Amino acid sequence: MIDDILRAKRAGERLSDAAILAFVTGVLDGSVSRPQAAAWLAFAFVRGLDDGEAIALTRAMTDTGDKLDWSGIDGPFVDKHSTGGVGDKVSLVLAPLWAELGWKVPMISGRGLGHTGGTLDKLEAIPGYRTDLDTAALRRALLDAGCFINGQTATLAPADRILYALRNETQTVECIPLIVASILSKKLAEGLDRLVLDVKVGTGAFMKTPAEARRLAEALVRVGNGAGVETRAFLTDMEQPLGQACGNALEVHESIACLKGGGPEDLRALTVALSGHPDAAAVLASGRAYERFERMVAAHGGDLGALAASHAGVQVEEVCAPRPGVLTRCDAWDIGRAAFVLGAGRLRAEDTVHPGVGVTVLHKIGDSIEEGQPLALLHHAGRGVEHARAQLSAAFVVGDPSSSGTAGAPRALLHGTVE
Ligand code: URA
Repeated sequence: MIDDILRAKRAGERLSDAAILAFVTGVLDGSVSRPQAAAWLAFAFVRGLDDGEAIALTRAMTDTGDKLDWSGIDGPFVDKHSTGGVGDKVSLVLAPLWAELGWKVPMISGRGLGHTGGTLDKLEAIPGYRTDLDTAALRRALLDAGCFINGQTATLAPADRILYALRNETQTVECIPLIVASILSKKLAEGLDRLVLDVKVGTGAFMKTPAEARRLAEALVRVGNGAGVETRAFLTDMEQPLGQACGNALEVHESIACLKGGGPEDLRALTVALSGHPDAAAVLASGRAYERFERMVAAHGGDLGALAASHAGVQVEEVCAPRPGVLTRCDAWDIGRAAFVLGAGRLRAEDTVHPGVGVTVLHKIGDSIEEGQPLALLHHAGRGVEHARAQLSAAFVVGDPSSSGTAGAPRALLHGTVE
């Protein structure tokens, strides 16, 4: 059977739903060997998978694992997935905000790799916060707080773990239908009614150009809807970091400020836009969603009162503008790298991160800057400081003011939506 499937995909033929399910089942039970699975991925990469095959692959990867079951709890059940960016702490704000608006948010999230931070790393900056709750504890969190943010379990979409590792080893990661099936199979296992996708575009994003990001967003929306979950995508800016804080505990503090009705304007605006709820702006401004966050953290065993401990031994230094002018570049990738070399991020899944280090970005593209004015704060624990300073000098460009002497225009945050 697997020989026929491999020959068919090698020849560029379309695979039936049954053939795709047989392939995924075989990957899990070992009857499809790792070399056979790697060959399948390579043929899929080169020959492509159409939407029907991507839907079948997504469903097969979800259905061959456990699914979270919320029977007896009123929905709707909603979640958001971001393709990853620098300073992207929206999940920490949006999950409690949706809960306060009456929706249930069973969010399974991941860790950061490379220059982008992961939601779980941010939450683990709160002493005691556990990201490995079992399904009974997740149900209690959903009933009590209306939301949870937990790690992936071994039984949700288990084929993805095997296939993703093989894709990493075989240079087959950058393939839209494989990316789509990987992301959506894990989300479908959460038992959702609705899914919102934040597809980032810019230097700090996985997708560097608007055309690439749009292709991914459109495929995610087609396959998500085809697999039975109401799915929308937003294309959002990742040329500069979101908000000011880049680093685990720093981002928790900024999320709390936002949940209490303050925080940076771009973080508030993006959270409200992604929420898709008409009352989101008013409820976020009221500060009421913070209490949901407290309940969620308590359900995960976290101690918000001990958050300050994450900054023990961390020193703060300013990075200042070398000249007056207008900030024309505030590069998300460079700033993410600076936070990474300070210890906020990891290269390999098994590396540990420092909860308290990172970068606070004090300005946005388009701001007027005076000579010597601080552009960023560097929070360090003695490691990587010179490297981070060099990365930050590359990140910021202060250019000439326009001929009228006014500051430049701010960058747009939303670049489009896909329904
Ligand atoms: N994130 C995932 O979960 N899977 C991919 O394939 C790419 C990004």
